[in-house]
Amino acid sequence: MRICRIRIYEVNLDFTQPASISYKTWTRVNNLLTIVDTDDGLSGYGEAAPFKPITGDSLGDSLRFLYSAAKRLIGEKLSSQEEIRPILDKVSGDLGFFSSTGMAALESSCYDIAGKMLGKPIYRLLGSSEPKLSPNTVTIYLGATEDITDRTRDLLARYSEHGLSRIKLKLSGDPEPDLHRVLSVAKVHTGLITLDANQAYPNPDMAIDLFNRIHDRLSSQVALVEEPCPKRDLRKLKKVTDNSRIPTFADESAATLDDIKRIVEDKAANGINLKLQKVGGITRGLEAVRLASMSNIEVMVGCMMEGGTSIACGTNFATGVDHISCTDLDTDLELRNDVIIEDSKTLFIHGSRVPLDRPGLGVELGRLPSPIYTID
Ligand SMILES: [Mg+2]
Repeated sequence: MRICRIRIYEVNLDFTQPASISYKTWTRVNNLLTIVDTDDGLSGYGEAAPFKPITGDSLGDSLRFLYSAAKRLIGEKLSSQEEIRPILDKVSGDLGFFSSTGMAALESSCYDIAGKMLGKPIYRLLGSSEPKLSPNTVTIYLGATEDITDRTRDLLARYSEHGLSRIKLKLSGDPEPDLHRVLSVAKVHTGLITLDANQAYPNPDMAIDLFNRIHDRLSSQVALVEEPCPKRDLRKLKKVTDNSRIPTFADESAATLDDIKRIVEDKAANGINLKLQKVGGITRGLEAVRLASMSNIEVMVGCMMEGGTSIACGTNFATGVDHISCTDLDTDLELRNDVIIEDSKTLFIHGSRVPLDRPGLGVELGRLPSPIYTID
């Protein structure tokens, strides 16, 4: 079986409401979709969700990589998932440049094909006979005027039928309002809360003081806090980790495999938020999990602003490997116009994202715009 055609699309995804973190607000995202076709009639899907400050590549970088890589992939033989990564690594090596989101999309497409060829979901290709489930968070973003208690009630009402047990709350970097926000969520939500500062606390002492005050009030109801300080300043991150009673998870600081190696070596965080879009796809994700598990660093599988195609890949990954303590795979839940058809959406049941029991990603595409590139 050989790759005979690759199509690359730009897809515009609109959120049902604005999503703000400490330094950015999204109302829509422009992602890239890849469809890889083989000469025996299989098609594999992948999505790239670039955001340069975190994934290291822009939409333009990802598109340039995909176009160049696609031209070299035509004619390549694809007979098992073990062959996928060496081919992609060779292509990226020949090109001399790399896009983590482009690589994640192409690897997803190739895994989707391998799964369809063998009649197995990707989590089974990764070695799991049943999906290994872990609790999934849904996020409350920052908002200037919202009543956070009402927002929490609304979220609990909308996701109660899905068994939502964990809420993730974005922090602003202003300690008093942040404390108030956390306590407001806890007023109506009895399950676990996770926090994400998105680098908003340049002063680690201020972060430690806030987190310990939160812990004094709510104890272990607050399970973890992501990325308190500016990214890749591991000295500050480690200081918070060593002194906060709430465990820390590195996200922006854990973008690449090299970043993750440094965090593991320095024990700079208690866990990492692993995103396939940051690290560059499934194979590198597997290596990240291996590194973390050897040092007892916990792993959450999270997402960028991803649609259903990429969330299906993240869910198959998270449920196909050991050592995943929780997931944060939620951006597809708040989209107005995803490109996948509704009944091929990743399930959200009993509080976990659950892959469909279908070959490959399990995703079926609906109407698409015209491709930007068709390479054959
Ligand atoms: Mg984060």
